[in-house]
Amino acid sequence: MEVENIKPWLFRVQPYQGESLSHFLGRFRQANDLTPTGLGKAAGLGGAIARWEKFRFNPPPSRQQLEALAKVVEVDAHRLAQMLPPAGVGMKLEPIRLCAACYMESPCHKIEWQLKVIQGCDRHKLSLLSECPNCGARFKVPAVWLDGWCQRCFTTFADMAERQKEIYVDN
Ligand SMILES: [Zn+2]
Ligand SMILES: [Zn+2]
Repeated sequence: MEVENIKPWLFRVQPYQGESLSHFLGRFRQANDLTPTGLGKAAGLGGAIARWEKFRFNPPPSRQQLEALAKVVEVDAHRLAQMLPPAGVGMKLEPIRLCAACYMESPCHKIEWQLKVIQGCDRHKLSLLSECPNCGARFKVPAVWLDGWCQRCFTTFADMAERQKEIYVDN
């Protein structure tokens, strides 16, 4: 089995709290110098990795697929399932959104930012950014976020935190 052969050479990557699957897959691939195709092959998942990195979850990843991925990344399938939108909760593929204040505390893209019901960050009481506040570029898919900056103007996500607007909650 291909998986058994390459597994000893793979670095493990610990998931962050709330991290989206796209961001986690990007980090795992970078740590192990794998392309989406390479990881798809290693896990026997074909093109699914590339689709999931773009949040294309239609059809949603099956239990079997998550088990196959779990073997390669050595993260439990239940934990991987937490990186997906909860069943029945609508999500937006675009725009990719960011709470830069959260990112400063834990450098990852959170799946909750893509949920339709989410308007802002509850934790920081800030609106989510859906583009770079400096140059207006849309954020790329989280799988390629590893530098933590805007890929057009190189403003860091940390600098963007100051540009997030406060939100006021009535209740
Ligand atoms: Zn936040
Ligand atoms: Zn920018």
